[in-house]
Amino acid sequence: MANEKKKEYDRKYYLAHRAQDAARCRKYRQAHKEETRNSVLKYRNSPKGLAMLQRIKDKNKNEFSHKRAARNALKYAVRKGVLIRKPCEVCGNVKSEGHHEDYSKPLEVRWLCSIHHHEIHHSISPGLTS
Ligand SMILES: [Zn+2]
Ligand SMILES: [Zn+2]
Repeated sequence: MANEKKKEYDRKYYLAHRAQDAARCRKYRQAHKEETRNSVLKYRNSPKGLAMLQRIKDKNKNEFSHKRAARNALKYAVRKGVLIRKPCEVCGNVKSEGHHEDYSKPLEVRWLCSIHHHEIHHSISPGLTS
């Protein structure tokens, strides 16, 4: 019967320790949160991390994110007051949108209301979407 008792003891021991281990892990993670974050930052600034970020950037670029980047830059410039939103150049509607003729120049836009913006895309350059 000694064997049975030992088994029972082992089981209790195991359960108790499992709970303790979980708590210890949690504590460790909490205590090292800062460290973990710092190591992430360190990684980001390391050649390896930078190369990875560059890969992500290149990938995004390939997926036409320059359109989004141009739109974001424009939005930011308008919000910061660097660029003033103008009314639609065709009809004067103040609810205008910036139309990019060249996404590599995010702040060079034509201001058009949604109707005329739509029109320009379908008449001049059907490939553009912003
Ligand atoms: Zn218009
Ligand atoms: Zn457009």
